[in-house]
Amino acid sequence: MGASQSHGKRKKPRLVILGASFAGLFLLRKVDTQLFEITVIDKRSYFEFICSAPHLLGQGWSQHGFQGYDSMAFPAGVTFLQGIATRVEIDRLILDDDVEIPFDFLVVATGL
Ligand SMILES: Cc1cc2nc3c(=O)[nH]c(=O)nc-3n(C[C@H](O)[C@H](O)[C@H](O)COP(=O)(O)OP(=O)(O)OC[C@H]3O[C@@H](n4cnc5c(N)ncnc54)[C@H](O)[C@@H]3O)c2cc1C
Repeated sequence: MGASQSHGKRKKPRLVILGASFAGLFLLRKVDTQLFEITVIDKRSYFEFICSAPHLLGQGWSQHGFQGYDSMAFPAGVTFLQGIATRVEIDRLILDDDVEIPFDFLVVATGL
């Protein structure tokens, strides 16, 4: 079943945000989370505050530049999933363990 067909039967369109770093999390702050069924996916289990990494590493405080996604307060209804995206199809994302994540809208925020 294609995304447009399944969309008709579902209450909210599915928004997948791939990449939970600065761009992905900033989008999450801006989007109306009531309007979508949102899944945020990142290959890491933690957010890395990369901008401060050289300073923190130099100070021996590298642990302060990381925050586990499991300790983040995602808005209600937002699901975080750890996984590596390997392929995008027209209506789904494929993870490296062959799990398929269907979407109506996909934002790719995987950096450079
Ligand atoms: C050492 C250093 C210092 C910096 N200092 C500054 C600064 O002071 N000020 C400033 O403005 N910028 C700074 N930058 C640049 C800044 O870090 C980047 O502009 C910013 O990280 C880009 O954010 P992003 O969300 O687009 O991508 P990224 O931060 O690269 O995030 C991409 C996310 O996608 C995830 N991802 C990637 N591929 C996959 C995949 N296949 N499946 C699942 N997840 C995936 C990654 O795990 C990551 O969480 C610095 C960069 C570095 C390296």
